[in-house]
Amino acid sequence: MALNVTQIREDFPILKREVNGKPLVYLDNAATSQKPKQVIDSISHYYTHYNANIHRGVHTLSQEATDAYEQARKKIQKHFNIAHNHEVIFTSGTTDGINLVANGFSSFLKTGNEVLVSAMEHHSNIVPWQMLCEKTGAQLKVIPMSEEGTLILDEYDTLLTEKTKLVFVNHISNALGTINPIEEIIEKAHTYGAAVLVDGAQSCSHIKPDLQALDVDFYVTSAHKMCGPTGVGMLYGKEEWLHKLPPYQGGGEMIAEVTFEKTTYADLPHKFEAGTPNIAGGIAFGTAIDYLNEIGFDAIAQHESQLLEYATAELLKIRGLRIYGTGKDKTSVISFNLEGIHPYDVGTILDKLGIAVRTGHHCAQPIMDFYKIPGTVRASFAFYNTMEEVDKLVDAVRQAQNMLS
Ligand SMILES: *Cc1c(COP(=O)(O)O)cnc(C)c1O
Repeated sequence: MALNVTQIREDFPILKREVNGKPLVYLDNAATSQKPKQVIDSISHYYTHYNANIHRGVHTLSQEATDAYEQARKKIQKHFNIAHNHEVIFTSGTTDGINLVANGFSSFLKTGNEVLVSAMEHHSNIVPWQMLCEKTGAQLKVIPMSEEGTLILDEYDTLLTEKTKLVFVNHISNALGTINPIEEIIEKAHTYGAAVLVDGAQSCSHIKPDLQALDVDFYVTSAHKMCGPTGVGMLYGKEEWLHKLPPYQGGGEMIAEVTFEKTTYADLPHKFEAGTPNIAGGIAFGTAIDYLNEIGFDAIAQHESQLLEYATAELLKIRGLRIYGTGKDKTSVISFNLEGIHPYDVGTILDKLGIAVRTGHHCAQPIMDFYKIPGTVRASFAFYNTMEEVDKLVDAVRQAQNMLS
């Protein structure tokens, strides 16, 4: 069941381009994935053939657009094994989904309550909760991590108490690649009656989460990390929670009835979908999900773990190279530094050689503080990357080392 990567690469027009006179080697997939022509075509098809505003129109175009948009919601529901269609809320992305939930919880939390965050979160899963704590008087506590970049679950056990109302943790760390044991985290939180939000931005391109089996309360992700367009994402919330949370934004689409005296809100999911959404983006999100399922997540995982294993082994042959994030459960993200060399300088040389990696703190400054480093070089692999590209990366890192030391 090996992937036909050569054929898959034909689906991605951008992979044919050159950068600085060299064939592009795109290893910044943790920041955003590339888009197959199926996804690009679905956006262009929408604007060319049935662009119209949704939900309110009686005319044919509006009905076609509404059908396609709602079809995409069904694809998302099925993909994540979500019980009810109205538990799928379209957002503008992970950050938006987290802010929606954080904003909603501001009406439930008070002084004396505690919320737990992991030490390896993206800023978008830290800052909205800090703002929530400031507003409500609740206290933010941090589940610490070990030197190898895995959460210390014994400490989590100690932190969890009757005071804990909410736990938020990413499924996979974008900076380290660590896959967190979210099943265990969720189960333990529930024994204290705490709700759990999982940030799935980094996981959904690698694995297919079963949200009912996980019994998670909220799960958020972005389409652009899983071959879909930017500016669209989804929030899953358990029905009971979505009924309890107040609306996030007021406007059109989210109301049942408006008078100047009183407004009543629309049913789920529309209560949380004020205004005209990213219609083309939502439809193309559905296309991206179809595309990934056609390739198959087992085949994706198998190929990516081969890339990870090979790249890790080859990079570690380089003298003075340290990898951050060495837990046994990890995905195809390699964060590293060369001794005595700033990550930015390495990234700049790699770019000259056509290789796109990310350098810096990866929106996770607390992790960099933990390791006492300014940042890392991060190579993140997708199913369309090849072993030859790993070789090019390793050669280029050696070259950078020679030039900079
Ligand atoms: C990318 C990412 C985010 C932010 O996603 P946006 O699409 O920028 O909202 C949050 N968390 C993790 C783990 C990510 O990788």
